[in-house]
Amino acid sequence: KIDFAGILSELGLKNINPAFSTGKLDAGKGKRTIKEIFSPVDGGSISKVYFANDEDYDHVIVTAQKAFEEWRQWPAPKRGDIVRQIGNKLREHKDALGKLVTWETGKIMQEGWGEVQEMIDICDLAVGLSRQLHGFTMHSERPEHRMYDQYHPLGLVGIISAFNFPVAVWSWNAMLAAVCGDVCIWKPSEKTPLTAVACQNIIKQVLKENQVPEGVFNYIIGGAEIGARLSEDSRIPLISATGSTRMGKKVGEKVGARLGRSLLELGGNNAIIVTEKADLDLAIRAIVFGAVGTCGQRCTTTRRIIVHENVYDVVKRRLKKIYNDLPIGNPFKQGILVGPLIDKAATENYLAALKRVVKEGGKLITGGTVIESREFKTGTYVNPALVEAKNEFSTVQEETFAPILYMIKYSGPVIEAIKIQNDVKQGLSSSIFSNDIRETETFLSHFGSDCGIANVNIGTSGAEIGGAFGGEKETGGGRESGSDAWKVYMRRQTNTINFSSKLPLAQGIKFDL
Ligand code: NAD
Repeated sequence: KIDFAGILSELGLKNINPAFSTGKLDAGKGKRTIKEIFSPVDGGSISKVYFANDEDYDHVIVTAQKAFEEWRQWPAPKRGDIVRQIGNKLREHKDALGKLVTWETGKIMQEGWGEVQEMIDICDLAVGLSRQLHGFTMHSERPEHRMYDQYHPLGLVGIISAFNFPVAVWSWNAMLAAVCGDVCIWKPSEKTPLTAVACQNIIKQVLKENQVPEGVFNYIIGGAEIGARLSEDSRIPLISATGSTRMGKKVGEKVGARLGRSLLELGGNNAIIVTEKADLDLAIRAIVFGAVGTCGQRCTTTRRIIVHENVYDVVKRRLKKIYNDLPIGNPFKQGILVGPLIDKAATENYLAALKRVVKEGGKLITGGTVIESREFKTGTYVNPALVEAKNEFSTVQEETFAPILYMIKYSGPVIEAIKIQNDVKQGLSSSIFSNDIRETETFLSHFGSDCGIANVNIGTSGAEIGGAFGGEKETGGGRESGSDAWKVYMRRQTNTINFSSKLPLAQGIKFDL
């Protein structure tokens, strides 16, 4: 039994929720629209939220600008201490926030909790990072000179996020940005604003107890128009945008036009290569988790499998059997592995893509239908589809944000499979299943996978936060989370110091006055 009223009460979401972070609804003026948020789980209303208007937007930006002046003066490890306390608060509310993620997005509860765990993990990473924002030192070509580079806080960071990871994407950006001395303005997806308000409510107490200036962590609830305003706003040096390639192109153009910095995390068209040397037991499990997990709504979802002709039939038979038995249903129920799509429009896209691919010559092996019954009356529950197809089909070339898995056959050496894998416009995640080191090393080599993520004997989805996350080509080129991804949130400065009594010039240039 889920205590829905308890979740709303614990996360402060009972009434109509504010349009922006400070919650002072009289701060901005003008009328606001109220939107009711419905759950894809049962179609029921969860709560209501205001959408921000133009005055709200300006109020948030000005508050954030003021906050930055103060926040950047805090020593980085002190900022890290705030992030440590935020991580602890998230631990306290992991259960309720994870359930709200399930309620608002429809992902199964294990994944809802997993998403909150990812937020906690990035807080831990950011705390350590707060003592390691280091640059390099170099040897100068000039005597009695010293050179080094250092990183300074950048300023305001706009975070535009997608519905499918409604809170983790914010934390990947916001926690790193916070230790770097930046302030954040988060525009969550209009489909999942409640989880954003809940996050702010969770961290509010930490911010108050530690006298963190108002405006370090902001959100603005609204649609694409708020995202567009952020992209055009030259007061915001960095826009980090996660979502479709269509959206990323618009944001990239706007930010580029003002020579701002953008970090784009866009759509994927991820493939798993299964060679004849693969451990098929491992491969099948990874394929199913990657293809149907989150109902096919992860940027790293496995959309294509490229299978060697010698093992193709056995892979097809085994997948078909599993697909026919998938536990689909209410994501709050234990044992369910596939919940609903986010909304009816997503179901329509799913059906339309299947129709198109069949018209192009694809063959539906199983699935591909909407589940309609008394229990499933939302029109958001579908049977994941397995389709035999060719890589060059225009439908296969696109990302359909739903559980459609395309099976593609290859013959010959592994390089043939890699060519097929790379022959799409996106470049996010990729995997190979093989126990042959020549095949796996070819896949990882400079003439192998062209994706930002390339895995061996694990699937395409479920990245750890320790690595840099992101992809190439139409996936946008951005990197978030671990490794040295923090550098994008700071401005780099090179310093040369002369402690001699002369003024020698670089490159031996003579300029005698
Ligand atoms: P979407 O592009 O419809 O919306 C994402 C966000 O962009 C929302 O907040 C939306 O309001 C905003 N937006 C839309 N148009 C905009 C515009 N013109 N200017 C500024 N902001 C705008 O995406 P979605 O349906 O919420 O999410 C699914 C997509 O996100 C998929 O393509 C998926 O692959 C991608 N995604 C990518 C990653 C990644 O890390 N690469 C992670 C999660 C999701």
